[in-house]
Amino acid sequence: MKVVIAGNGVSSITLVKELKKISDDADIEIFTDENRPFYWRPRLIEVLANEASIDEITPYDEKWYAAHNVKLHISDPVVKINSNEKEAISKSGLKVKYDAFVFANGCDPFILPIPGKDLKNVYTIRTYEDVVEVKKHYGASKKFVIIGGGILGIEVAAALNRAGEENVTIVEYFPYLLPRQLDKPGAAILKTYLEKRYHLKFLLGKATSELEGNENVEKVVFSDKSSVEADVVLFSAGVRPRISIARETGVEFERGIVVNDRLQTSVNDIYAIGDVAQHRKKLYGTVPPAVEQAKVLANVLSSHDKKYTGSIMSNMLKVAGVDMLSVGMVDPDSGDYTFVSRGDMNKGFYKKIVTEGNKFAGAITIGVKKANALKLKKLVDEGSPANSPLTKYVEF
Ligand SMILES: Cc1cc2nc3c(=O)[nH]c(=O)nc-3n(C[C@H](O)[C@H](O)[C@H](O)COP(=O)(O)OP(=O)(O)OC[C@H]3O[C@@H](n4cnc5c(N)ncnc54)[C@H](O)[C@@H]3O)c2cc1C
Repeated sequence: MKVVIAGNGVSSITLVKELKKISDDADIEIFTDENRPFYWRPRLIEVLANEASIDEITPYDEKWYAAHNVKLHISDPVVKINSNEKEAISKSGLKVKYDAFVFANGCDPFILPIPGKDLKNVYTIRTYEDVVEVKKHYGASKKFVIIGGGILGIEVAAALNRAGEENVTIVEYFPYLLPRQLDKPGAAILKTYLEKRYHLKFLLGKATSELEGNENVEKVVFSDKSSVEADVVLFSAGVRPRISIARETGVEFERGIVVNDRLQTSVNDIYAIGDVAQHRKKLYGTVPPAVEQAKVLANVLSSHDKKYTGSIMSNMLKVAGVDMLSVGMVDPDSGDYTFVSRGDMNKGFYKKIVTEGNKFAGAITIGVKKANALKLKKLVDEGSPANSPLTKYVEF
């Protein structure tokens, strides 16, 4: 079977590994627009912090690809699909026939459509090349401003500090950090800790309306007319699935490429996995669902009867000294849920458990040992009953 994949991120590489586990039959061709083979994208944070090199986060060499029956085309994205002829066309003009075509081409970072967004020294972080550009400013630029106080924004800010940058400000539209992963008390505890440990500055409840400067960015201006000076601005305001080729191919899309439980799109023999896929109305944007989807697709392509029924959202912060986990329902607003929480602002400790009926439905932990937090995650992931033997890990 000939499988052609657009993208060489974690969903693509997992699909390759799983196909190989099931059988040696798949003949795989991967196209990527990046100029290097797969690397662990989340570990770009370590590269930004000067704690790892690109080689250290690039696990597989040419021999690995060959051993997995993969022909890899770097710097050569798929630009068109002729679904009637079952043929993919790359930027360099290669035409490849497929039995199965897989969109595993991820997301673009979202850049606020505001005046000044095209000024110099304004960046996003998605690829190794982005990291290289930002690192050129180390020691030379003084004021870094990150727009977006989500997981990625916080990780980037802490990495800049670990690389020696002392003047880092995070701007967040919501009145508290990580609005999707935390509740207000948890966010306040996290913010206090990040201020102390990484000397980060926060501007919360600020809607960015403009970037000012002549050639280079100089200032970030907010809707309330206040502003903060900036030599470098990093947008970390979410991502958008790359759907343009799917759209031109006639594949159904909404916010992402719409897939069913077998990861099939609306067009025969075309599939989508990872950040680009929208399953049961949901976009995930994290590694675990991308891996789960790729595993199911490997089975589907090998004619095994497997279904993907969705993933429970969970996030961990990769910031040294701050163990934070958020999983499932964390801030319930209906009478179906009950919760219990306890925190200590000075110690940087917070724990919240949410149950629905007699089942674990969500949790937040800050400053709880990672191993114990992961046991708690398991309870939520499995929807365990509140009297499970693992319940000792939720004791307060
Ligand atoms: C700095 C950073 C840190 C992160 N940390 C975490 C974390 O700690 N935990 C977590 O769960 N998630 C994290 N994420 C998110 C995570 O990286 C993504 O969820 C994951 O990479 C999605 O995998 P994917 O295979 O769907 O897409 P991607 O990894 O984005 O790979 C898609 C690839 O397709 C390529 N491509 C695009 N268009 C084409 C085309 N037309 N033809 C061929 N190739 C194309 C892209 O260039 C890219 O290389 C992080 C992201 C970033 C940027």
